[in-house]
Amino acid sequence: MLLKDKVALITGGAGPNGLGYATAKLMASHGAKVVIMDLAQADPANKAAELGSDHLGVVGNVVIKTEVNAAVAQVLERYGRIDILVNNAGITQPRKTVDISESDYDAVLDVSLRGMLLVSQAVIPAMQKQKSGSIISMSSVSAQRGGGILGGPHYSAAKAGVLGLTRAMARELGPDNVRVNAIAPGLIATDITKGKLSEEQKEVIAQQVPLLRLGAAADVAGACVFLASDLSAYCTGITLDVNGGMLIH
Ligand code: NAD
Repeated sequence: MLLKDKVALITGGAGPNGLGYATAKLMASHGAKVVIMDLAQADPANKAAELGSDHLGVVGNVVIKTEVNAAVAQVLERYGRIDILVNNAGITQPRKTVDISESDYDAVLDVSLRGMLLVSQAVIPAMQKQKSGSIISMSSVSAQRGGGILGGPHYSAAKAGVLGLTRAMARELGPDNVRVNAIAPGLIATDITKGKLSEEQKEVIAQQVPLLRLGAAADVAGACVFLASDLSAYCTGITLDVNGGMLIH
């Protein structure tokens, strides 16, 4: 039990095959009380109920400050604290640079980067008061290698922004014992890739990964539990690569 009685808020946590829900399940199995925040259509209450009655689902769009603040207020009202924030919500779009419209840019940058900022702003005061906290944000190998497999350049930029914001917040919040880290997944088989790659294409990609497979959501969940727990007590400002060796740098 690495997270006994810790309270964890996971954004974008209701996707049944997603990294957020895999993380929610693993954190719950390690004793955490998990709050899943997601869009209404993803039905976060139902997904949280599947984990058991200790857990909570809240509806909230990470891009809308009033919704973020209301969701965080619900968490504090029920549990009185927040120990872990996983900024996981994110969307991607395959685009060439010249084809990125302003609304594409806004959509992709907003969910990953504005969302990370708004939800972090909402939880930081509670973590500072507690003098402890762990904030984990999903970047991507796309930020490091200039494009992943599916995301356009605006996605790479959003995920590179996540790394910059992570490092700056880590420096600022270290004195309050609030740790801030990022995870850079490689290609993980979730709904974000569904229907966009054939089985043959996935096999070709897997052959280029030193571990000879695509990632599973559980691979990223394990990294999240490490960064959330005291096992990583002296890690802040880091980017943890979970990519099977796809990018070794
Ligand atoms: P997913 O599509 O399965 O899950 C994303 C979740 O975010 C969904 O539940 C969705 O409803 C939610 N969401 C979208 N917009 C939201 C908003 N405005 N407010 C609140 N919730 C919102 O995707 P996934 O593959 O599990 O990806 C999770 C994170 O990991 C994303 O940030 C993604 O960019 C990142 N990532 C994924 C991969 C991969 O290969 N799957 C690789 C690198 C990084």
